[in-house]
Amino acid sequence: MYITLNMTTKTNICYSFFMVDIFSDWLRANSLDSQFLKRNLVDHPLPIFLIGLGAGGGDRFLDLSGEAAWEMVAEALTARIPELTSLIRTVRMRVPKSFEANEERGGRAYTYDRGPKSLPFVHCPYKGTASDVLTVAHEFSHALQIVASRRTAMPPMARELCAFVGERLLLTWLRDNQPSLSPFMETAWLADNSSYLGTSLQSLVRALEDGSDVYDYAWNYPVARLLAHAVGYEWSSGKTALLFKSGAKAPSHLAEFYERAHILPQRYVLPALTDTGGTVANLYRQIGALLLLDLQRQGADTFEEAIGSRYAHLFQAMQGRNVFLATDREQVPLGYILWQCREGGKPTGFERRIACAQRLPDLLTAFENHCPQAAAELRRTTPDNIVGDFVS
Ligand SMILES: [Zn+2]
Repeated sequence: MYITLNMTTKTNICYSFFMVDIFSDWLRANSLDSQFLKRNLVDHPLPIFLIGLGAGGGDRFLDLSGEAAWEMVAEALTARIPELTSLIRTVRMRVPKSFEANEERGGRAYTYDRGPKSLPFVHCPYKGTASDVLTVAHEFSHALQIVASRRTAMPPMARELCAFVGERLLLTWLRDNQPSLSPFMETAWLADNSSYLGTSLQSLVRALEDGSDVYDYAWNYPVARLLAHAVGYEWSSGKTALLFKSGAKAPSHLAEFYERAHILPQRYVLPALTDTGGTVANLYRQIGALLLLDLQRQGADTFEEAIGSRYAHLFQAMQGRNVFLATDREQVPLGYILWQCREGGKPTGFERRIACAQRLPDLLTAFENHCPQAAAELRRTTPDNIVGDFVS
């Protein structure tokens, strides 16, 4: 998933001779600073959804040709970034491409930027797996970004960001339009994280600690992966289109992230509760989600209740149907509300946990819809505290 860089080879040769720190050059070229990278990638745990917890199964073969995958990506990107419709059409119809899976040529996908007067060339070895389809989205997005940023070249980290944004937009489009493909595609995306946030991140951390006189293109991936997740969640299509068009000015479009303590809220994303059809397995997942929500609570580091008794308490509540776990439309847990039943069945002793304070209204609305009686009692007994931590 490289863009080939003529400068890569040149800088390696000339700088390594003089032992200049290529890593500092890379930071400068991307307008990044090492503190921003450390804060987001080293000093704090990565959001667990991104490191692939819960991903299962191997890379599946889908009944889709390379050409069909290319068309599908074009359709998804047109739906998600309508501002780029004509440029997407140009890439779809006119960009030369090869899906040949020729091991002798290294088997790696790349998009070759042939300069402002030519269209880029995409090479995407394709055997029909979910991972290959994701790679098509990645390389299509590289080509789109190159065509959209005709006048000036985008720094490499921002180019990878655009490619990852393309992957994410395909995944969200599939959920709405081809949901049968989603589980396989999302498993492939999670599996890729173990490389981008695994070996690529290790290389970046080594360079952060010691500098480097050799350029490693993999440095671009980890922070681009986090930024793509945030852009996918937060940005409008218009804002995303401007990023694709921004060329050398891409870093200024990302300034809002550089000012944050963290690109992604640290206590926000839990793994999705994918329904696999097994009752016992689903119960395990749900109780696991409840415990994870407990651990995300402020002050969870000093959690004093033994995990065995907490587990027993939650399990009992599940058996008595006295706990409501809310998930968003992507099956990601938002939070839960738990209560006890007095004699006569009256709910009392409410507890609630929320993954992210901003989602509290969603949790309460879902609670009202699914458990109207308990919700009415909660409103009656704790009207003043309903947006606070009512019982813990
Ligand atoms: Zn790439």
